[in-house]
Amino acid sequence: MSTILVIAEEKNHRIRNATLEVLTAAAGLAARDGDRVAVLLPSSAAVDDSASLAACGADRLFAALDPRLGVYHPDLYKQVVLNAVQACGADLLLFSATAMGRDLAPRVAVALSAPCLADCTEVTMQNGTLTATKPLFAGKVLGRFVVNGNRKVLSLRAGVFPIIERRPGAEIAPEPLPVPDSAFPLQVTPAAAPDAGRMDVADADVVVTGGRGLRSAENFTLVEELADALGGAVGATRAVVDSGWRPHREQVGQTGKVVSPNLYFMIGASGSIQHWAGMSGSRCIVAINKDPNAPIFQRADYGLLGDLFEIVPALTAEIKKRSA
Ligand SMILES: Cc1cc2nc3c(=O)[nH]c(=O)nc-3n(C[C@H](O)[C@H](O)[C@H](O)COP(=O)(O)OP(=O)(O)OC[C@H]3O[C@@H](n4cnc5c(N)ncnc54)[C@H](O)[C@@H]3O)c2cc1C
Repeated sequence: MSTILVIAEEKNHRIRNATLEVLTAAAGLAARDGDRVAVLLPSSAAVDDSASLAACGADRLFAALDPRLGVYHPDLYKQVVLNAVQACGADLLLFSATAMGRDLAPRVAVALSAPCLADCTEVTMQNGTLTATKPLFAGKVLGRFVVNGNRKVLSLRAGVFPIIERRPGAEIAPEPLPVPDSAFPLQVTPAAAPDAGRMDVADADVVVTGGRGLRSAENFTLVEELADALGGAVGATRAVVDSGWRPHREQVGQTGKVVSPNLYFMIGASGSIQHWAGMSGSRCIVAINKDPNAPIFQRADYGLLGDLFEIVPALTAEIKKRSA
């Protein structure tokens, strides 16, 4: 029997959905071979919903609680993960392909001399052989890889794997994991929490993205109002971020975040291949554009041809009216 270790992430003392997705995938893999699933939670303090970890299939929970873990520190986090690997003897490590997971997974893989495959969208285990699929060349092709090695490190794309509570009501007793005292050369200082009231695009079920067609930062209130009416997050294209209209944390695409919401609105955005790389996993895409030849119309599920300054306020008003 072997162990799969899931590296968890929390936000505001709640387990992130991206972690529950990875955990569900881990539990699915473990169920085939009777393997165990351990979860490592590095955090400044205990979370409110650790039962969700048990419900989604965690057999063990290592809680590394230390105020220094309140902000991501690559060296310290790496050491904590290596300690957890030693504690449970894990031979497969699963991260979520979030900003933290993308940074941490390869560091851990190097320390373990293990292969690392990032941003996987499918993982299967058959007769002990691990096969993973991941998009390549900005999503133009899918690559399927057989991952060999005594230990393996993978990160899974957020929003692709469903969350399944296999053991509702299950409980789990956290096992404390000591945090190393070593002095690390890098010091990480917490930054001011960015726009705490707004949802992160990577966690949202609905994303409303605005592009250069909005013409100015001020006009983004149209995007914000539609996002609020739908209970969603605001996204942006790189053209918008480069213009300084929106912060980089909202950028979706090859050099931004990868999202897979149920509903993705694109307002005044052309649908470049680099943007597509970040949102092609969306389940339903709605495009609003005045150019009938905009590339996004070849890929969107629904297209609204016209001036966004007329369509968006009318759409927002109608949604508000229906949900009142
Ligand atoms: C290496 C590299 C990495 C990149 N990474 C990313 C990335 O991560 N994310 C990303 O988004 N881009 C990325 N880009 C940039 C990408 O190539 C595009 O330039 C960018 O996505 C275009 O943004 P846009 O759609 O907002 O602007 P545009 O392409 O200028 O499109 C604006 C659209 O608005 C429409 N429009 C204008 N006015 C109106 C109106 N009144 N009503 C309705 N529609 C209107 C126009 O018809 C047009 O289709 C990257 C580029 C490179 C080279």
